[in-house]
This record gives sequence, structure tokens and C-alpha cells, in this order.
Amino acid sequence: MAILEEPIKEPVFLRNYVGGEWVESDGAIHEIINPATQKVIAKAPSATVDEVRTAVLGAKQAFPDWRSTPPLARARYLFALRELMEERFEELSRIQTMEHGKTIDESRGETRRGIENVEVATGIPSLMMGYNLEDIASGIDEYVIRQPLGVFGIIAPFNFPFMVPLWFAPYAVATGNCIIIKPSPRDPISQVKIAELVEEAGFPPGVWNVVHGGEEVASVLLEHSDIVGIAFVGSTRIGRDVIYRKCGETGKRAIVQGAAKNFLVVMPDAVVDSTVAALMTSFYGNTGQRCLSGANLVVVGEDRFYHEFLDRVVEATSRIRIGYGLDESVQVGPMQSVDGKERVLRYIEHGMTEGARLRLDGRKPDIIGDYPDTCFLNPTIFEDVTPDMVIGAEEIFGPVMSVMRAKDLDGAIDIIHNNSYGNAASIFTQNGKWAREFQYRVETGNIGINVGIVAPMAFFPFSGMKDSFFGVVHGQGLEAIRFFTESKVVIERWF
Ligand code: NAD
Repeated sequence: MAILEEPIKEPVFLRNYVGGEWVESDGAIHEIINPATQKVIAKAPSATVDEVRTAVLGAKQAFPDWRSTPPLARARYLFALRELMEERFEELSRIQTMEHGKTIDESRGETRRGIENVEVATGIPSLMMGYNLEDIASGIDEYVIRQPLGVFGIIAPFNFPFMVPLWFAPYAVATGNCIIIKPSPRDPISQVKIAELVEEAGFPPGVWNVVHGGEEVASVLLEHSDIVGIAFVGSTRIGRDVIYRKCGETGKRAIVQGAAKNFLVVMPDAVVDSTVAALMTSFYGNTGQRCLSGANLVVVGEDRFYHEFLDRVVEATSRIRIGYGLDESVQVGPMQSVDGKERVLRYIEHGMTEGARLRLDGRKPDIIGDYPDTCFLNPTIFEDVTPDMVIGAEEIFGPVMSVMRAKDLDGAIDIIHNNSYGNAASIFTQNGKWAREFQYRVETGNIGINVGIVAPMAFFPFSGMKDSFFGVVHGQGLEAIRFFTESKVVIERWF
């Protein structure tokens, strides 16, 4: 099939968006490479310490006017942003495919999810309301108002370059805060495109800022006394050991959404066709680079069911078409980076040395079209994986399925609880009692019942437990509103 037109024809030079201006950085420049074609599509800076501080100062200065702008007026900027995102829907989606590698359908899904968060945040006049009670004592009333806090930092991962910052940004600005977004240095173009639309929507200067870079830029945000909180999504290693710790030390509030190792449990009464189809998108969609991706498949049941079911899974997996995501016939794109691919290859080697059986070897990619194999991988399936193996315990973040077996539901739940992560788990069954037992007992923030990717809608929290989440409230919806506001209690008495 033909390749869709690429919206980026020549490499674009990215700038920081600070105080409503596009500011060229004095920092070092690195290249952004389309992982499918290996062509340079952008050059991005790493903002200097002074540039980040200037962004924070500008945001701080913008805060008093923005917080006193009526909520409905703030919502109107979001309505305008939403309209612009709809108009550019296809362009925004294709850019994600170009900078990340995911298929165009996956990118369109990501754009849609991002826009939905903007839409939910437009409900701010209702979402931000406080509450009151009169006569708490004779002639005395008490009420709660929610107030914004100032300037927040948003530190994002590479795997959803468009959507993840939007789990936070629309709620932060809707509640009257100002924000500094630091996209992943690997694929920052989508956040530049959003900032262009923010500018076009007429947001006041300083409310919505984007600074480029990696660890050094994040560190300035973490250290800065005028940053009141950080919303972070990324690995647990950075999230827990750097971000959460530093926010504790500096007294900032934090949402830290970390890594994952998700389990999909198939019971012997599962509806086979639809379960196999759900597994394909769960394990291999986004090339396995989702925090909600299936990682370990736990099959419950006798030998015969296990073998018949697994044959179906292997057969469906071997039919998956990989290639450039702008080819609409492609089902799985490349890994986002060479580093990501090498990491997966290391895990595959590791799995073989620790005794797992390589049932399907995806290391030599079979690519549709004439593209360098630099970042491509076909899906891989391991059998005879045990929970204590490295490939069964750690996040691989690529298209690898590790298959385990359990005698019954209790055994499957024990396997899940043996793992340190708690992001998502799903059960496939027609038995309501099993399903209820699963959702009641399993310690993960997101639970699927006959659903392979448990992606919460924008009006629900994006949850997580154990080593997958640090904080109290989560991104999206009402919990994000809580994060970005303080409840002020007023007790009122008139003499
Ligand atoms: P990462 O932790 O490497 O990077 C995330 C962000 O932190 C980036 O912006 C990066 O520049 C910054 N960073 C890196 N080192 C830092 C340091 N020392 N100090 C401060 N900031 C630093 O994560 P990634 O590889 O970009 O993203 C993939 C990870 O994100 C996976 O583990 C995945 O499971 C996770 N993820 C989780 C969720 C969720 O909701 N739980 C969602 C998406 C992705």
C-alpha cells in the first residue's frame, strides 16, 4: 500500500516556547531521527540552565493574571485549542508516527486520547467547584474553595509523545496554574506542534511553556523553588529514585507514574478468537512500548487447552506485518530507537540463557517495504517462562511475549503478586465469579476483564500501584484537578 504523505519534508529546527515566544537555545543540538526511514527529521536543543530559569520566571509572572482569569474564560482557550487540534488531527498523528515509529492508526488513537483530555478539562467551572455547609455552629458557615498553586513542571516519556503531557497540562492550566513541559528528548516534535496551537489559540504568554532537553533540564525544574509540583511519567528508576525523592526533599507535590510488567491471564473458558485478537494488540501494539502493554501471558488450564491456545497465538503473531507506520497496511512499526531495540535484544539473549524456550524468534525483522532494519523487530514469544526469570520479572518494553502457566486462578494471582510492578492486569474468561475475584484481589491500578489494554478514559484516573506509581492522586480527570489545586477551608462568622 502507498505511504501516506509525510508532513515533515525537511529537518525542522526546534526552539523552546517560553513566555509566548519561540526562543532559540544556546544549548547543544541533537538530531531526531525517523526510526523507520532513519532520516533526520528535526534538530532539537537542550535548554541551558539559564533558559529553563527564564521559563520558570516568565511562568511565575504570568500566574497572577491567569489565576484571576474566570474559569470559563480559561476554558475558552481550551475550546479553541481543541478546535485547532481537530483541524490538524491528521497532521498531528502523522508527526507522531514520524518521530516515534508507531502505526498511523495508533497515532490517531493517541491524538484522540490527547484531545479528550483537553475536552474534559473544559468542564473546569464545574470540576473546580468547592463545597459548603452553613451553620456548622450557630451563625457560622464553612466552605472549601480550590485554588491553583503556581508553576508546575511536566516531565514526559518517549512512548506517547503527544498524549502523556496532556494527562496533566489541560487540567493544570484550566485550574489556573502555569506549566513548563519538558518532552522526551527523543521525540519532542509533537509538543512543539501543540505549543504552536496553544499560541494560535491565544493563550496569554507564559501560561504554557515548552523547554527541550533531558536530565539536566529536568534537574533545574526539580531544584527550582518556584516550581510547586512535578507530574512525571517514565521509568521507575528515574521516577522513584530521582523525581519522587527530590520532590520530597524540596517539598513539591508529585505524581510519578512509572514502569510496568503487565499480566494477561487466560482462563480455560475464554472466547478464543477474540482473546487472541486482544492479545495481538496488547503485546505488540506500539511495538510493545506501552506502560499498558501485555508482557506476561499466563495460561490457566490443562495441557490440551494450553497447546491449542498457544498454537493459535503463535500463528496470529507470525502473521503480523511490520513496516513504516505511514503505510496503513502495517500493524507494527519499528522500535523508537536503536537503544530500545538493543535493550530488547539483550533481554532475548538473557531469556535463552536462563532457560526459557524461544518459540518465535523476532530478531531478524521481515519488513514490508525497503527500509533499513536499524530499529525493526518482529514479535518474539518465549515459553516456559517462570516469574523469577529476568524476562518474566523486568520490563522489556518491546514486542516480546513471555508465556507462563498456572494451575488455577489462585496460582495466576500468586504469579502476578510475585512481581514488583502493579500497573495493569487482565483476565479473559466468561465466568463472572472468576472475573470478580480477579478485580477484587489483584494489586494493579488498572484491571481488564476481557480487555487487553486497560487505558482509562480521560475522565477516569490513569492509575497504578506498587513500583508503577508514587504519589496519591493520578493523572487525568478529577484526580488531576485535585493535584493542581489546594483546598482552602474558610470558616465565616459575622458579628
Ligand atoms: P525515562 O525514565 O528514561 O525518561 C522519562 C523522562 O525523564 C524523560 O523526559 C527524560 O528526559 C527524563 N529523565 C531521564 N533521566 C532523568 C534524570 N536522571 N533526572 C530527571 N529526569 C530524567 O523513561 P522513557 O524511557 O522515556 O519512557 C519509558 C518508560 O515510561 C517505561 O518504563 C514505561 O513503562 C513508562 N511509562 C509509564 C506510564 C504510566 O502511566 N505508568 C506511561 C507511559 C510510560
